[in-house]
Amino acid sequence: MSRRQLVPVLVTVLCVPMATVLWLGSRLLEQDRQLEAQRKLERREQAADRALRALASALSEEALFRTNPGEGALGVRLPQGPLLFRTSAEPLPEAPAAAFEEGERLEFRQGQSEGAAEVYRRTTRAANAVVRAGAWLRLARCQRKAGRVEEALLAYAELARMDGVAAGGWPASLAAMWGRCTLLEELNRETELRAEAKRLRAALVAGRWQLTRATYNAFAEDAARWTGEPRPALVEKLTEAADALWERIKSGGEAAAGRRCVTVRGTPVTLAWRVDRQGTQVFAASPAYIERLWLPRAGERVWLRDEAGRDFPAAKSEDFSLRYAEETGLPWTVAVAAPAAGAELATRRRLLLVLLGVVALFSLVGGYFILRALRKEFALARMQTDFVAAVSHEFRTPLTSLRQITEVLGEGRVRDDDRRQSYYRSLARATQRLHRLVEDLLDFRRMEGGAYEYEMRTLAADELVLSVTDEFRREVEDRGFRVAARIQQPGRVKADDAALGRALWNLLDNAVKYSGESRDIEVSLGRVDGQVSIAVADHGIGIRAEERGQLFAKFYRAAEAKKAGIKGTGIGLAMVAQVVAAHRGRVVVESEEGRGSTFTVLLPLVEG
Ligand code: ADP
Repeated sequence: MSRRQLVPVLVTVLCVPMATVLWLGSRLLEQDRQLEAQRKLERREQAADRALRALASALSEEALFRTNPGEGALGVRLPQGPLLFRTSAEPLPEAPAAAFEEGERLEFRQGQSEGAAEVYRRTTRAANAVVRAGAWLRLARCQRKAGRVEEALLAYAELARMDGVAAGGWPASLAAMWGRCTLLEELNRETELRAEAKRLRAALVAGRWQLTRATYNAFAEDAARWTGEPRPALVEKLTEAADALWERIKSGGEAAAGRRCVTVRGTPVTLAWRVDRQGTQVFAASPAYIERLWLPRAGERVWLRDEAGRDFPAAKSEDFSLRYAEETGLPWTVAVAAPAAGAELATRRRLLLVLLGVVALFSLVGGYFILRALRKEFALARMQTDFVAAVSHEFRTPLTSLRQITEVLGEGRVRDDDRRQSYYRSLARATQRLHRLVEDLLDFRRMEGGAYEYEMRTLAADELVLSVTDEFRREVEDRGFRVAARIQQPGRVKADDAALGRALWNLLDNAVKYSGESRDIEVSLGRVDGQVSIAVADHGIGIRAEERGQLFAKFYRAAEAKKAGIKGTGIGLAMVAQVVAAHRGRVVVESEEGRGSTFTVLLPLVEG
């Protein structure tokens, strides 16, 4: 399979399972989400049912009408029960004006307040309570006019104790309290005024008198002014709702029992009522009361909604179930938020996501490494093919010479001795070249496999350099190459002379091959950092910086060399590296593109 075919196959093999896993994962996630949504709905519905049951028991008739409701609610038994005001207030009996004829004549026509007071005082001892009340009120008025304030206050105090009768058009005790207040106000007796007004306010709030709305308003305003305390707005609203209900019940416009939520000047008031033999029980509750006493029983995540769609206390979540008044029998719509989601599903989903992530990551990383390995393999395979082609090529040239020369010699056509000698020399060179080539290949194989046996001995590096250079010079001088050898400093090294000689030969061979137009090659022996250095320098094509690191890899050939069509197998420098490493040395390359290269072999110096 070629490289072009393999890559799509590999991509398919990696991508298809990964896509399948991802698809399956996404399906699972989707199912999970649906399941969770369903469970959430169920939980919400269950919570709503529970909340409703709790609310229903809180609003059971016994609970509603038996208990004393406390702050924020009103519980009255009508018609008797206390109400701040009512539409149909029963007027109280009042004494006929005739009973005070004598006193009033003295008081108004003759201006004898002294005498009038006497007459009224006498009348306060009358048998009829209604008459007594009228007399106390008139006595107080008289004393007040006469400037006898203490006596007037006392008269009011007496009157204040009289319930169930009217005086001056109002319930007697109310008239007395109000009278005291106005008198105290006139006298600027602030402290006493405030105390009296507080009593008046408390009696109004307790619904002590049956007052019409207008009368109540007038007295409530005065009481608020004197006490500095605001009117009891909430109780007034509850009263208003209860009163309106009571009017409807009386006119037969309501069932014998029921519940309803009405809005009184912006406040939702919950009403419940029951008509029995003793009268009608009416219960009115404010939102605050419901919030404080009933909602906690139904759970934290419950709130109510009135007919106008307003939430009270406030919406607690975006996600909720509604139960409408029609189905629940409760006066409001009940909203119940979903309980907090169970952690189990979220954890499972997170796990699934992590797993999918891991699978995807492994596939990607695995794919990347496989592709990289394959690329390396392909590159090596290509290099090997190039190598085989290159080796065949290397063999072809000397073989062709051999064939042609032997043919010419064999046919006996060369008579001239000198020419024959020259043919023989060519024969010898071609054979030697072939021999070296085969030796190189075999030795390299052995070196790579660790089977090459180096015969190390101490030798003079200068001798080795000179002998290899001389031999090489003879080989290339007829092609015009000048190979100069400079011994700057001789030195001894421990080496296998055949292997080291071969390495030096390879460097020289490369210097010639990659010399381009130049024909000068220098070999120099010297010292660098206490090591023996053998440098081979040429002035040829040079090597690009980015390729220098790979030169010593097996089969590697630089782009420039291939482009110029210079033949080679790519194992020369690999062999040099092997040999130098076996000698515990290293090779350094310096090069400049188009200007030439210097390969320097550094070997440990053997002293002495
Ligand atoms: P080859 O048989 O191709 O010469 P080598 O292993 O000897 O193989 O060298 C590897 C590559 O290094 C060469 O193909 C060439 O590109 C580059 N090279 C080696 N020596 C030189 C040099 N003296 N000048 C320029 N390039 C060189």
